[in-house]
Amino acid sequence: MATLQEKRIENVDGNFYVDSSCIDCDTCRWMAADVFNRQSSSSAVYHQPETRADKLLAMQALLSCPTASIGTVNKPTDIKQVQQTFPLLVEDNVYHCGYHSEASYGAASYFIQRPEGNILIDSPRFAPPLVKRLENLGGIKYLYLTHQDDVADHQKFQQHFNCQRILHSDDIKPSTQEVEIQLSGTDTVELTPDILIIPVPGHSKGHTVLLYKNKFLFTGDHLAWSPYLENLYAFRRFCWYSWSEQIKSMEKLANYSFEWVLPGHGRRYHGDVDTTKKQLQQCINWMKQQ
Ligand SMILES: [Zn+2]
Repeated sequence: MATLQEKRIENVDGNFYVDSSCIDCDTCRWMAADVFNRQSSSSAVYHQPETRADKLLAMQALLSCPTASIGTVNKPTDIKQVQQTFPLLVEDNVYHCGYHSEASYGAASYFIQRPEGNILIDSPRFAPPLVKRLENLGGIKYLYLTHQDDVADHQKFQQHFNCQRILHSDDIKPSTQEVEIQLSGTDTVELTPDILIIPVPGHSKGHTVLLYKNKFLFTGDHLAWSPYLENLYAFRRFCWYSWSEQIKSMEKLANYSFEWVLPGHGRRYHGDVDTTKKQLQQCINWMKQQ
């Protein structure tokens, strides 16, 4: 829990603050960009929320912070109502789960609600208010894991929802040995007619991405938007397996159409299909110069 004693001096005065337990994961800064920014290598409140909408975003960021580093001077009275807003709608039937886990360094996870069975994409924190909400939305049929790093509370979700976990065999570690569906090879897998799982070795050897309805691409740590480069990019410094393989994987992705890039780490991206194709090509060109 955030404490006033540990409040960072970079915060502007007011109700919301970030304390020194912040791990600089970026979650609050993209969830409530008008409230939180980065100062001296961690997050801080640079503008206290004034409108109802900004207060809600700040509270959603508070609940999603993986290290509970966001606090309020006055005890919040609306926690229960804010908990009910999760998971947060992205578009159509696709949601951002919030409740990021420190075990995955604050990676984002997503939820697709579909009549044929819901899918959880990477693992959020096993937080009872979120679990309750996911139950109300129909539970979880598949827990798809993009790669070895963002598995967090996968075991608790599996036990609670009796879902089938999916992970590529090249990313299986002792803690994920029991995963029910272990993919292999580099061929694209059609999980259902509207869901493709595309192996994209690079960041890790067994990294895959999930394409839903040729519209939503869930990219784990393979591809994200950079607000600094103002382009789609990949994490050169956090490439654990092979940068040249990651470039090849990115070129493979250029054969697919999508509008949304929804990553674990890094910022999300949304554009029309043609613009996204151009963005991806620029990303590939940029990668080749690194
Ligand atoms: Zn990773």
